[in-house]
Amino acid sequence: MIKYGLRFLATIILSFMLAATLGCSPGDYSRFEETREMMGTFVNIIVYAQDSGRAEKAMGSAFEKISQIEAIATIFDDESEASALNANANLSNPSEHMSVLITEAKNYNQISGGAFDITVQPVLELWQAGLWKETEEVQQEMIGQAMELVGSDKITVSQDSIELEEGMRITLGGIAKGYAVDRAMEVLKQEGINFALINAGGDIMTTGPKPDGSYWAIALEDPDGDDSIAVINVANKAVATSGNYERYFDPDREAHHIIDPRTGYSSEGSISATIISNSCMDADALATSIFVLGPERGIDLVNRLDGVEALLIDEDRNIHRSNGLSKYIKN
Ligand code: ADP
Ligand code: MG
Repeated sequence: MIKYGLRFLATIILSFMLAATLGCSPGDYSRFEETREMMGTFVNIIVYAQDSGRAEKAMGSAFEKISQIEAIATIFDDESEASALNANANLSNPSEHMSVLITEAKNYNQISGGAFDITVQPVLELWQAGLWKETEEVQQEMIGQAMELVGSDKITVSQDSIELEEGMRITLGGIAKGYAVDRAMEVLKQEGINFALINAGGDIMTTGPKPDGSYWAIALEDPDGDDSIAVINVANKAVATSGNYERYFDPDREAHHIIDPRTGYSSEGSISATIISNSCMDADALATSIFVLGPERGIDLVNRLDGVEALLIDEDRNIHRSNGLSKYIKN
């Protein structure tokens, strides 16, 4: 509680200092908001600015940055760099964005002990195509074959190329949204915005508190109802949630879009995983990672990382929290 109080005070003081530097008071700011459909979800941007012209120009440029990155990272467009890499097991002269995404994805693969793995795409395709309708034996056999193509250590990144082994395919769905949100936030700041929130379907980044010094309040949805299970209060932090309760392929709600790279089956044990961190890419990739790792190993990992907190809901609806989570939750 004391820690929380200090943080709160610090934020208030910070926002007055910021206001003083900028020569204006909280009352000079208005709230602007825009939502566009992108990256297979809705991207919502909120900014506080002194004039609408600046706010609209900044938001337009931020959306533009997200669509640039989407065009590179999506596998739903044959023209993207990710699709070219999947088609040829090779990509020469990758863009800076693509190189960073792949390098970081390999990094999170290591950090997560293999739970985060962008090479699960061949397995994911089997489930999308209806593998859940097959017998256990057929499933085992097909997964066995596809699993030979899984393993981020088999991706080679060099200065002027990215290489996969023959037949391997990647999906950047667990990291690209967070990365795009970070880059878009940089754009907002370059455009002179000091108070902003970007939410790409649950991958959220905030800059500043709000102009009056209050935190951005992020409600975590209850997987079973309309209420929220907790409200997370942040300034200058990212919050990302991975949840399987929205996207199942099968009527029995067992096959979903997060794959456990150890088994080739949809990840079991978690229904929702939220990460608070300093970058949205970090939060996005780690949320997917701890979702796969499950409550024990997932929370353990987060407790070992600096500046990262987590809340995970397991399949029995128990809530698991990392050691420092409480400082973000008001009672
Ligand atoms: P959401 O898309 O619901 O925000 P995630 O951030 O967890 O959730 O991303 C899920 C996506 O990540 C999947 O649709 C797929 O593209 C990819 N993916 C699935 N399993 C893994 C995994 N084990 N490691 C990395 N990426 C994965
Ligand atoms: Mg993710």
